[in-house]
Amino acid sequence: MDIDDVRRRLDEFAAERDWAQFHTPRNLVLALVGEVGELAELVQWRTDEEVLAYARTDEGKVALADELADVFSYLVGVAEAVGIDLDEAVHAKISKNAQKYPPDLSRGSNAKYTELGGAG
Ligand SMILES: [Mg+2]
Repeated sequence: MDIDDVRRRLDEFAAERDWAQFHTPRNLVLALVGEVGELAELVQWRTDEEVLAYARTDEGKVALADELADVFSYLVGVAEAVGIDLDEAVHAKISKNAQKYPPDLSRGSNAKYTELGGAG
């Protein structure tokens, strides 16, 4: 996926509706949280097995895809609003996490990095 292409389409969508005026960092973060809530609604009260079964239905596939797309779109919007290169940020964070969670200390463990006994 080309994040810049997504950002351009979202900008065009907002510009055509004169909505950019509402897309402040705070509003976009709150919209992102709202969309995460909508995603959560689709899985709440379902077991993991039920979620996977739901995701295999036509209705579930569309509903999950829609909410994931909403979450991603607002994430891209927040990043743009605060001047963060999302692609660069994600790669940098994966590298940081790799440092925090050395495979030899973290393999098979769900412990937080502060509890691994390695570098923090
Ligand atoms: Mg939604």
